[in-house]
Amino acid sequence: MMDTTKSHLVGVAVPTLRELRSAILSSAGPSDAVAALREAGYAGGDSIHSAFERWLVETGAADTADAGELPLEKFGDRAATFFGDAGWGDVEFSHDEDEGVAMIDITNCWEAAGNDAEDPGCQVTTGMLASFFGKIAGYPVAVLETECCHGDGSRCRFVMGNAEVMNYKWEQIKAADG
Ligand SMILES: [Zn+2]
Repeated sequence: MMDTTKSHLVGVAVPTLRELRSAILSSAGPSDAVAALREAGYAGGDSIHSAFERWLVETGAADTADAGELPLEKFGDRAATFFGDAGWGDVEFSHDEDEGVAMIDITNCWEAAGNDAEDPGCQVTTGMLASFFGKIAGYPVAVLETECCHGDGSRCRFVMGNAEVMNYKWEQIKAADG
């Protein structure tokens, strides 16, 4: 029997998610909370990936249900529409071939909006993106949020690549911070 809960999406209201988020952040230690929120986001990535592939076919946005088959530009355009319509925020994709990474910019990210913590971060979104793009790529993808609520229009930037590239990137960021 098919496990329907796996691909089942529920339109949970953002205030509900925010309550859950702040409950986790206030009850667990900071690093445990970050890990728990990322895990929670990651757990849903598969379902969102299935929904995206169904959406591609049902809306005629693509003539294949295999999102990995789409040319990069078309994929970015369709994924931005899908995530925007689903309420994640205004999404834009770009990539840096020299560095071997892709960037996902989300303006008005649901998770950042109204996030008044001193050191904000969109952990659920980070986890979801890692899982979603891991399914698209067919190998594990690491995602790092490098800017949160930055500049005009409150933009969050997520950088993504394979584990090796992202470890290197992480060392660069740490070195720049220190
Ligand atoms: Zn953010």
